[in-house]
Amino acid sequence: MADSHPHAAGHPHAAGGHPHAAFAPNADYVYEHPRRVYWELTRACGLACAHCRAEALHHRLPDELTREESFAVLDALAAATPKPVVILTGGDPLERPDFWEILAHARELGLHTDVAPSATPKLTREAVMRLKEAGVGAMSLSLDGATAETHDALRGIDGCFERTMASAKDIADAGIPLQVNTLVTADTLPEMAAIAGVAEQMKARRWSLFFLVTTGRGATLPQITPEQTDELLAWTLEETDRRPYVIATTEAPFARRLVLEKKAAAGGRPRVAGAGMRDGNGIMFLSYKGEVMPSGFLPMVAGNVREQDPIAIYQRSELFTRLRDVDAFGGRCGRCEHRRICGGSRGRAYAATGDVMAEDPLCTYQPKGA
Ligand code: SF4
Repeated sequence: MADSHPHAAGHPHAAGGHPHAAFAPNADYVYEHPRRVYWELTRACGLACAHCRAEALHHRLPDELTREESFAVLDALAAATPKPVVILTGGDPLERPDFWEILAHARELGLHTDVAPSATPKLTREAVMRLKEAGVGAMSLSLDGATAETHDALRGIDGCFERTMASAKDIADAGIPLQVNTLVTADTLPEMAAIAGVAEQMKARRWSLFFLVTTGRGATLPQITPEQTDELLAWTLEETDRRPYVIATTEAPFARRLVLEKKAAAGGRPRVAGAGMRDGNGIMFLSYKGEVMPSGFLPMVAGNVREQDPIAIYQRSELFTRLRDVDAFGGRCGRCEHRRICGGSRGRAYAATGDVMAEDPLCTYQPKGA
C-alpha cells in the first residue's frame, strides 16, 4: 500500500503514482519544501456533486486568480528545490479557458504536472489526447460506486458512471497513467471489493482510497468507524498483492504503521513511502483565489499568493510551521512513537474538534506506554 494525498475538488481527484526520489524528507520526516501542490484552478464544474469538498459551482467566480497571477504562481513554485509536483484540479480545471496556457507554462518551467478533471462532456477523447501531447504526468478520475446506480446516486449526477468509464478508456488509450479515487464512507464501504474490480477494468495504475474528512459538502456524509477503518486497511494490504495497481490511501496516514508492521513481520526494510507527508508537511493547497492552505481538507488559510510567495508561506507561516511540530500534537498523536512518519490527518482532527493539533479520531492505535 502506498501513500498519496488528496487535492481539491469533488473529493479526492488526486492524480499521482510516480516515484520521486526527491520526496525524501530530512531525518525527522520534515519536508522543507512542498512536494505536492494541489491547485484548485477554479470552482466551476459541470458536475457540482452532492458531496463536493470544493462546494463546486456551475459557473466561475470573479475573484479567481487571473492568467497572469497563475503564471506568477507557477514561476514561484518552479523556483523551489526540488520542484514540486503540481496537481491541477478544481472544480474542473478544464472549465478555465486559459487552462491549456497554464498547463503549457507549467511544463515549460519543468514542473511535473498532473491533472484531475471532472468526468464531464468537456473531457472528450480529443482533450485527453491533447493532455498527453502537453506532457501531463498522470490523471485521476473519481469512482464512488461499482455500478451506475451506486456511483451516480452518491454523486447526485445521472450518467456520470458511464462517462467515467469512457474517459478511463480514453486515458488508457492515450497512455496516461490513471489514478482512480474512491471515497470511503459508510455508504461506499460495502462496495469496496467490487470497486476494486472496476478500477482494474479501468486499467488504473493506482487506486486511492480517500478516508472521509467531514468538510465542505462532505460534512453530511456518514463516516465509517475506527474499527471498520482498521479492517479496511488490513484488507487493502492483502488486496495490494492481488491487483495490478498500487493501492494508496489519502487522509489516512496511520496506514503507514500497518505497512511498517507488515514489512517487519516479513523481515523487510522498515521504510514506508511518503513517510511524514500530511497536511502542511510536503503538501500544500492553493485555492481558486490564491489562498494557501495545508490541504484541500483543512480549510485554514496561512496566506495568499496575491500578497506573498507561496513557498515562503509554506516554509515560514505560523500555521504550516506548527503543523510540522509533531511533538506539539495533542492526545495520542502527540505521544505516539509513529508521529513522525504518521502524525494523523490534521484535516480530520480539525473537522472533528476544531483543534488542528488534536489527535486523529479515525485511528485506533494506542501508543506504547501511553
Ligand atoms: S495515534 Fe496518531 S500518530 Fe499514532 S498512528 Fe494513530 S494517527 Fe498516527
